[in-house]
Amino acid sequence: MARIDISTLDPARTVVVATGNAHKLAEIEAILGASPAMGGVRFVALAELGDFADPDESGETFYDNALIKAQAALDETGLAMAVADDSGLCVDALGGDPGIRSARWAGEHGNDDANNDKLLDDMAHVPDAERTARFHSTVVLVSRDEDGEEVLVGNGGCEGAIARDRRGTNGFGYDPLFDLADIPGTRMAELGPQEKNAISHRRRALDDLVARLG
Ligand code: IMP
Repeated sequence: MARIDISTLDPARTVVVATGNAHKLAEIEAILGASPAMGGVRFVALAELGDFADPDESGETFYDNALIKAQAALDETGLAMAVADDSGLCVDALGGDPGIRSARWAGEHGNDDANNDKLLDDMAHVPDAERTARFHSTVVLVSRDEDGEEVLVGNGGCEGAIARDRRGTNGFGYDPLFDLADIPGTRMAELGPQEKNAISHRRRALDDLVARLG
């Protein structure tokens, strides 16, 4: 991503988005930026402001980890407003796992193929009717001033079930195994990016946050 000099930004009108992903930045900007409460605000990605190490996502909930990422972005940049999200797959038959451990379910962070293999193994003996699951996303907007912090939270989910094989080539993570409840017989990985963005857990969490912006 191209670099932006932090000293050129107006802290009162800048939101740093704790991501290095240009698509996530664009999605967040399109949804949050459309809120009247965010009028005149510029959204910049943390990765546009420097090379910052990822914080340790040591929380026990999606909320904890989203807050850790947003607060780290504020600490690193000295800016006053930050947005961060944390998401994952929650499978009923696994008691809500992999949950916050979704990215590292098979051990190595971000190894989607290994994570999907492990999930298929974990679920091998689970009958069809008990394979329900959902993607969950929590998004936080943290505003900091000399009096402290204000945190606004949005939550969103996308319902489905874990299939017994992979299908589809779009998306990432567990998308090839995720049978959509809203479009029966369709995997998340068979949707185009715009179709996915219209129904995704992240979209719903951002819409929820917008509703709380007032
Ligand atoms: P993150 O916190 O948004 O980076 O997501 C953490 C992990 O959850 C990812 O590495 C994926 O394994 C899983 N995940 C989150 N969102 C999705 C999605 O939209 N599709 C598939 N997997 C996802």
